[in-house]
Amino acid sequence: LARLRSRLAKSNNVFSQGLLALLSSDSIDDDVWDEVEESLLVADLGTEPTLELVDRLRERVTVEGTKDPEAVRAMLREELIKIVDPGLDRRLTATPTDGIPAVMMVVGVNGVGKTTTVGKIARVLVAEQREVVLGAADTFRAAAAEQLATWGARVGVDTVRSDVEQADPASVAFEAVKTGIERETDVVLIDTAGRLQNKANLMDELGKIKRVVEKQAPVGEVLLVLDATTGQNGLSQAKVFAEAVNITGIVLTKLDGTAKGGIVVPIQRQLGVPVKLIGLGEGADDLAPFEVEAFVDALLS
Ligand code: GDP
Repeated sequence: LARLRSRLAKSNNVFSQGLLALLSSDSIDDDVWDEVEESLLVADLGTEPTLELVDRLRERVTVEGTKDPEAVRAMLREELIKIVDPGLDRRLTATPTDGIPAVMMVVGVNGVGKTTTVGKIARVLVAEQREVVLGAADTFRAAAAEQLATWGARVGVDTVRSDVEQADPASVAFEAVKTGIERETDVVLIDTAGRLQNKANLMDELGKIKRVVEKQAPVGEVLLVLDATTGQNGLSQAKVFAEAVNITGIVLTKLDGTAKGGIVVPIQRQLGVPVKLIGLGEGADDLAPFEVEAFVDALLS
């Protein structure tokens, strides 16, 4: 947690001078509120949530008649927590049901960090003594299966892949789940292709993978991976994927970079699904559960 805080603090220090200094000024006037708004927008919180939050905060400051910067700061923290945590369940479904492995599909456009995320999740599960098998259903790029298998070897789990180029992704996913059932693994993690050029194609492919997998085992999680550094653009991607397949959670990657991370708020609103995990680097251990208070504190530090 401390590591997460310091990583996030580095990338999110937009508030460190601006916002809190502003809230510490003697009189909180319209200019101050405008700048508070600006800081939240810069942090990718999105227009609507920002306006809502600032309105609520202004109202509270007026109603409670406070001028104490510490009190206002505490209110800001409370309001941010409320807006980041609309009461969504962030637990991952990663335990077998009646001896059938939990299946997790990982989806998202190319380059957002899908394969890396599959590797990192496998690492966490292995550390928890769970049996895992990976499925390389991104058969579109030849290098993708190789990259996944490399991650598998690194964290000590097997990868089911096709020797045939451009194999049917659904059949690879089917094989992976079959292997998981035969070996009685706890989890089967399926990496998928992220072509977005053709929406109909994508919907067909993801839908088919899911249907084919569900002939053998329920798909407990469909995790959408989004790159935090793409800011509001991540939202339009998210919508396309949400139309293609029923998303159960978001993994927000690259929060170790310049991204402010406020994008969490509009994403959760638009999709109605929680951010469950965050990516904090390229290494196997750079994955953390999304924790609301730690996140807000990092945003405010
Ligand atoms: P995919 O195409 O969606 O499967 O994406 P990859 O897993 O191949 O990742 C694309 C690039 O992003 C690689 O260079 C990864 O090392 C990098 N990457 C993935 N997750 C993170 C993260 O959380 N932080 C940083 N800094 N880089 C990441």
